[in-house]
Amino acid sequence: MLFLDELPEFPRHVLEVMREPMESGRIHIARASHERRYPARFQLVAAMNPCPCGHLGDPRQACHCTAAQIQRYQARLSGPLLDRIDLQVEVPALPPEQLTANQPGEDSATVRKRVLAARERQLARGALNAHLAGRELEAACGPRRPIAPGWRRYWNGSSYRRGPIIACCGWH
Ligand SMILES: [Zn+2]
Repeated sequence: MLFLDELPEFPRHVLEVMREPMESGRIHIARASHERRYPARFQLVAAMNPCPCGHLGDPRQACHCTAAQIQRYQARLSGPLLDRIDLQVEVPALPPEQLTANQPGEDSATVRKRVLAARERQLARGALNAHLAGRELEAACGPRRPIAPGWRRYWNGSSYRRGPIIACCGWH
């Protein structure tokens, strides 16, 4: 797993070279007379703020960024890079009292069982979800559960969102 915090703070050329291994699971290195390919399958988890100050959309603290600053910040991530990220989830800030409430949550062992069961179902079907191409994914959904037009657009890579995200791209 590769976790990149503050994703837009990485130089754009660094992020762009990740597109190849994210897409193919391999990395290709070419020097004067040598060329090598190496396996590079990884699960990318990344986080970013919605704006440079981090308060855009926060009802408790005002964002003082200008529209241009926000646009520049979010534009640091290219569309093709975002297209390769399978899940983009907005995570609003939690109030401190909720963070410190110490509410019992689901334990890791329970979540692990659920993840392993899902993985087993995928392997029994023939491929992990992350390895399915568009048509294979549609076939895996079954003829009685066609892909909704909005999701089809998403899978085809023709639409993506920009905003506060925790992003995840993976090969499981
Ligand atoms: Zn801001």
